[in-house]
Amino acid sequence: MNISFTSYGAAREVTGSKHMVTISGKNILVDCGLFQGKRKEADEKNRNLAFDPASVDCAILTHGHLDHCGIYPVLVKNGFRGQIFCTPSTAEIATIVMNDSARIQTSDIQYLKKKAAQKGLPPPDIQPLYTEANIPDVTARFHTVDYRKRAEILPGIYCTFHDAGHILGSAGIVLESGGVRFGLSGDLGRSAMPILRDPEFPGDIDYFVCESTYGNRLHDEMSTAEDEVAAAVMETYRRGGKVIIPAFSIGRTQEIIYLFHRLMDDKRLPHDLAIYVDSPMSVNITEVFKRHEECYDDDIRRRFVEHRENPFGFSQLKYIASVEESKSLNSLKRPAVIISASGMCESGRVLHHLANNIGDPASLILVVGFMAEHTLGRRLAEKQRVVRIFGEEYDVLARLKNLNAFSAHADYHETLKHMERFDKTRLKNVFLVHGEDDALSKLRDRMSTAGYTNVTIAEPGTTYTLS
Ligand SMILES: [Zn+2]
Repeated sequence: MNISFTSYGAAREVTGSKHMVTISGKNILVDCGLFQGKRKEADEKNRNLAFDPASVDCAILTHGHLDHCGIYPVLVKNGFRGQIFCTPSTAEIATIVMNDSARIQTSDIQYLKKKAAQKGLPPPDIQPLYTEANIPDVTARFHTVDYRKRAEILPGIYCTFHDAGHILGSAGIVLESGGVRFGLSGDLGRSAMPILRDPEFPGDIDYFVCESTYGNRLHDEMSTAEDEVAAAVMETYRRGGKVIIPAFSIGRTQEIIYLFHRLMDDKRLPHDLAIYVDSPMSVNITEVFKRHEECYDDDIRRRFVEHRENPFGFSQLKYIASVEESKSLNSLKRPAVIISASGMCESGRVLHHLANNIGDPASLILVVGFMAEHTLGRRLAEKQRVVRIFGEEYDVLARLKNLNAFSAHADYHETLKHMERFDKTRLKNVFLVHGEDDALSKLRDRMSTAGYTNVTIAEPGTTYTLS
């Protein structure tokens, strides 16, 4: 049997995941995600796929993050006619994420047109990659499969999803044909994280494609994060300030809500402290979390589900829907916690809350997520004293605290631990993807030291013929 592997995205970088596994002449595309980064370069790569969509026989989606699902509408628009396999909760999250992406693209272009008109220039000649009208053509192709159920995705080719513990519904996958087992980690999560189960062992495999985001890093322990959040919030409460938490809508927001719920239940925070979740996307994604108890770990089941209690709702918590309600938080006179998106402070309602509170020495900005270079979030995390918000300069007088325990990706120690259970004598090749150069080379060296042979950093567009 012939198997080959080609990575068309997230090879030597972290966004734009697109991995083609070819088994006996059939092309199986695993993820079709959006490239993010420098605008012009990313746009070019997002418009022009490096393969013919009509040549893809079947597709798989590992999880609902934009850099894994965001280009499926382009794939379908350009001739893909197969099914897209994913878990039930991934189908729901990806639908929200693709629609959100379509809306952002449309409003970005409207903004650029308005700017051009103000300068008396002709409107720029750009079209969105896709609009909301394109999304139903994608979702109609979704075919959902539960974890650990072996599905025949093409004649004689099987796929099984295993919980990756990365975000709700996330999966590592094993493709199987003629006794050969080909594994892909998807985005690999961490052990002992709240809400989600630990990454699951997929059984022995012959080939493994492994993500490498934190191949050069170790995370702080999650157990101390709860104490640190409690202490920081209490100090701010006593000063009479507000806690602003920029948080990703998928996963991080729900982890933070769940953490505050536990702190309230354990009476570690004052009963009159109000907590607001102010982001329409975060509210929608939290609804998906509520519907998919089958993805929860034992801890959240014991504490909440068994008592028929909603883990994402408690009396001090309020979800903000309308713009008016969001604006009314500006005039709030008492201490409060505001959890809002976007996670990297590049857009969304969090910008208003930052602008409104950044000059208040009693307030606190709590950084709980990864902040990419050249974002406002990174400048805040670096404790710069002056920042620009909506084009205006602000002195940063509010306090700043970084928490490094929250991460949805395994560090190198956790990745190697995940792989320990594989039978090394069976595993013939490991391909590293989804990482920057330093993370990739350090992880390759660590794997070689740990006794794995044939560890290769996948080069973009290179086809590796395996058997
Ligand atoms: Zn992800």
